[in-house]
Amino acid sequence: MKEWQDIDLNNPKAVLKQALDLYHPRITLASSFGLEDVVLIDMVTSIRSDARIFSLDTGRLNEETYQCAEKIRNRYKTNIDWYFPQFDSIQKLERGKGLYSFRDSTENRKECCGLRKVEPLNRALQDMDAWITGQRREQSVTRAELKVIETDTSHGDITKINPLANWSSEDVWNYVREHKLSYNTLHHRGYSSIGCAPCTRAIKPDEDKRAGRWWWENPEHKECGLHTKEEDSK
Ligand code: SF4
Repeated sequence: MKEWQDIDLNNPKAVLKQALDLYHPRITLASSFGLEDVVLIDMVTSIRSDARIFSLDTGRLNEETYQCAEKIRNRYKTNIDWYFPQFDSIQKLERGKGLYSFRDSTENRKECCGLRKVEPLNRALQDMDAWITGQRREQSVTRAELKVIETDTSHGDITKINPLANWSSEDVWNYVREHKLSYNTLHHRGYSSIGCAPCTRAIKPDEDKRAGRWWWENPEHKECGLHTKEEDSK
């Protein structure tokens, strides 16, 4: 990991500025076009217009997510590096197990996430020294110990930066309103988290922020393999 200067870890833009100074062009922002991602895209593009952004097109995204992505591409005049699953693996999965095998068991769900998300993510990160995510601590029990800067042991010990780790949902919405950002219209319909259409639903006001993901599973299992446990560093 490169040497970070003393910075205020509660200031996402300061964290991003130093991250881009240290790692660009071998740093990329992961976006699923949820609210946190549009905040981070606004911040990184204000620091560097050529900051790298990528997204995983699983083949099962909502139409609203594509519309949001396109609005962002036009607003910031930035290209999104889309990554797709391997054609052969999806063809084999759907021919063998049908279109909704992920509903049958956690094992099948993880298989689908592995093919549609984890494998493309590995390709997106293979030439990177660092990546940026919109994860926040308050989103779920699986993210309660999240650090702003971590070592990602799942991807060759590259640096993983979660600038909004300490932000509340209210902080995110305040930034969106203050900067008049375009965002995914699924948020108007009660979605707190944006993912694949068949595996994400709206939540009630008193529910966990990720309760709408794989709602048929236990909360402890609700990660898709993109964010596995890392060693702490900061
Ligand atoms: S979220 Fe659902 S559809 Fe998307 S990759 Fe995972 S199991 Fe498959």
